[in-house]
Amino acid sequence: MFKKWFFILCLLTAIIIKPSSIFAEQKISDEEMLKKRMELFQKMEAATQIPWYYLAAVDQYERSLRLSRKDIPEPKGVISIRYTTEEWSGAENPNQDDQNKGSIALFNGVGKDGNGDGKADRLNDEDILATFADYLLQFGVYDDNFRIALWKHYKRDKTVSIIMGKAKLYKTYGKLDLNQKTFPLPLGHNFSYNNTWGDARGWGGRRIHEGTDIFADYGVPVRSTCYGIVEMKGWNRYGGWRIGIRDINNTYHYFAHLSGFSKELKLGQTVEPGMKIGGVGSSGYGPPGTSGKFPPHLHYGMYKDNGRTEWSFDPYPYLKIWERQDRKNR
Ligand SMILES: [Zn+2]
Repeated sequence: MFKKWFFILCLLTAIIIKPSSIFAEQKISDEEMLKKRMELFQKMEAATQIPWYYLAAVDQYERSLRLSRKDIPEPKGVISIRYTTEEWSGAENPNQDDQNKGSIALFNGVGKDGNGDGKADRLNDEDILATFADYLLQFGVYDDNFRIALWKHYKRDKTVSIIMGKAKLYKTYGKLDLNQKTFPLPLGHNFSYNNTWGDARGWGGRRIHEGTDIFADYGVPVRSTCYGIVEMKGWNRYGGWRIGIRDINNTYHYFAHLSGFSKELKLGQTVEPGMKIGGVGSSGYGPPGTSGKFPPHLHYGMYKDNGRTEWSFDPYPYLKIWERQDRKNR
């Protein structure tokens, strides 16, 4: 009898303790994660003179890809830059899991030993970062060199400009935590919005509504929802005066039908949550300057770039969260 109870007790203990210990091993807080990443970037900067924000920008780009794509594994370590076994060990290397620096080099693999343990481990954060740093060093440590290195690596203009934007954001704000968001209109004004993403559109042929319309009075300030780079500013016949901002997670925030832009706002500049970028208007649906064809509102859209293509997703749930959070922080 005692034996049986003892067995059940052991089993219970195992059930109760195990999941929490697994949880503790795998899950580190976002804050800890950012701290660890920053430590690795700065350590690499000290060793190579490559600015930490270049390394951070590439890593963040890769991280966003891995979180938005199903064909590549989710990030496991602290660093998200990824090498295939072929790239790491060399395509002709008979040992695709090779960690020997000598034979990897012999087979033209890129793998390096960053933490000095004598092994080039494809899944070790420091080894991965040292390998990418080594690649960048072939070009140099300034903006123009970095741009060329990115182009040779990714062969996609949009990817190069997205990563350059991230580097600028990190450099400007001096930190990795740039995830803060805010509702696009200040809460002191009246506004209303419904979930209309995906609805059919009447004007301009067969299109779906790629956003949420926030109705408010003409001229109510429109603010950046995020830390980001002004990627687009200008007129188009559907959206009127519009602004596009790319945030740190490859998400593009689109503001349309504006009454105008904030005077100082320039293409390529950095913005932060709550910064005024323009006003609510009714511009669009015609040649430049057309206005007043519909009640004033902010058309707000969100798009995700996954390194190959970009698609619209529903901003409504995010707007709801940001509005609630702004009310709480008021
Ligand atoms: Zn709209």
